[in-house]
Amino acid sequence: MLIELPTALRPYAGNQRAVAVSGGTVGEGLADLVRRHERLRPHLFQEDGRLRAFVRVFVGDRDVRGAQGEDTPVDDAAVVTIVPAIAGGVESPRPPSADRPTLSHQEMLRYSRHLILPEVSVEGQRKLKASKVLLIGAGGLGSPLGLYLAAAGVGTLGLVDFDVVEFSNLQRQIIHSTDSVGRSKLESAAQRIRAVNPGVEVRPHETRLSSDNALDILKDYDVVVDGSDNFPTRYLVNDACVLLGKPNVYGSIFRFEGQASVFWAERGPCYRCLYREPPPPGLVPSCAEGGVLGVLPGIVGTIQATETIKLLLGAGETLVGRLLLLDALRMRFRELALEKDPDCPICGERPTIRSLIDYEAFCGMGPSRVEPEAVPEVTARDLKSELDAGQPLVLVDVRQPFEWDICHIEGSVLIPLGEIPARAQEVAGDAQVVTICHTGRRSVQAAEFLKAVGVKSVRSLRGGVEGWAIAVDPAMARY
Ligand code: ZN
Repeated sequence: MLIELPTALRPYAGNQRAVAVSGGTVGEGLADLVRRHERLRPHLFQEDGRLRAFVRVFVGDRDVRGAQGEDTPVDDAAVVTIVPAIAGGVESPRPPSADRPTLSHQEMLRYSRHLILPEVSVEGQRKLKASKVLLIGAGGLGSPLGLYLAAAGVGTLGLVDFDVVEFSNLQRQIIHSTDSVGRSKLESAAQRIRAVNPGVEVRPHETRLSSDNALDILKDYDVVVDGSDNFPTRYLVNDACVLLGKPNVYGSIFRFEGQASVFWAERGPCYRCLYREPPPPGLVPSCAEGGVLGVLPGIVGTIQATETIKLLLGAGETLVGRLLLLDALRMRFRELALEKDPDCPICGERPTIRSLIDYEAFCGMGPSRVEPEAVPEVTARDLKSELDAGQPLVLVDVRQPFEWDICHIEGSVLIPLGEIPARAQEVAGDAQVVTICHTGRRSVQAAEFLKAVGVKSVRSLRGGVEGWAIAVDPAMARY
């Protein structure tokens, strides 16, 4: 059988897109895969040998679930696909009321290309005008979503974000312009949306979505669109949507790959049916760490906008029960069938989650986690003095190879964070180690890991290579 690997896992299998393995069942094939590529093992399997919960396996387009799934017989010609979690119906979710707003002459003109579509027509356009859509995030996915949903005439657009526009956002977040750098994303996006269509009411929610405010913010909207970039928010949005009975239009992106679906527990699976648990922090890189092709959120966000409009109109077939996968490098779309998990902890037959929980803790990044012994940090200036004084330091850079190519500190060795568990033995237990990353967060995780496996002296470079470039080496390239 052939096992197809997602981009995130390919570096652990010699950068191959697919690996031919032998075995009569899915489980035997996976076992053969990790025998051939030992470095994949910690990514696919838990220590007890069970498949990790954030990994889904498909045979053809069929979702193979749980332990029994691994017994699924396969032949030599079978194609098995591994789909990990990555850090995006035919009836209208809430039939708009009879006193739907009418359209002005100007609106008739503006939406004329919609009005002549039988699937939209004047009635559909009035539905859109009466609709309220909440966008989680005014970033890469939120940009095309905000622009197209406004242009299409969705009456009320809520936006949740708390970030400011950064220079490095402009490569993909097309709702923001160069002169918006430093301004709040909400302010910048709202201004652009009003410029596209002054008839849209923009409701800014300048806050970090949390268990305390999510139900209150989401409850007034017909459709929620998840354009977030982190796992705690994805699970929070999913759970809040399940509890409120709202459809959640999902999209996510990583490097050249995208995923899209519509999670709507009343009619199909939810995000937890697909991924019961998030990956451990650091195992799946974020876009900030792994990079993303600038147009990719444009494609995936536009798919989400399409699904949103179909949900509001009650037209066509939505992605409920289907996971759409895009590989932009090969420009292939695939579609996988998703089933509702009867044991899903929130939308299953016996739900164990009945209210919102602590999602930071659930995703292993919050204060409720058992705090590991704090890792000491070293500032860029102190590190420079120690190196100048000839201290025998081992500098371990835990970024991705392409980041290393942009800039690195002379004399450091590259071991990307995801490879640290498999390559920790390359670091001598009695060495004086300093871990390094872009801004000093991944390096703390790496240092914690090295400390836990017995490296006695480990420090993390505070502020990463970014801090080093500012404080020590202004000639160093920054990104
Ligand atoms: Zn579910």
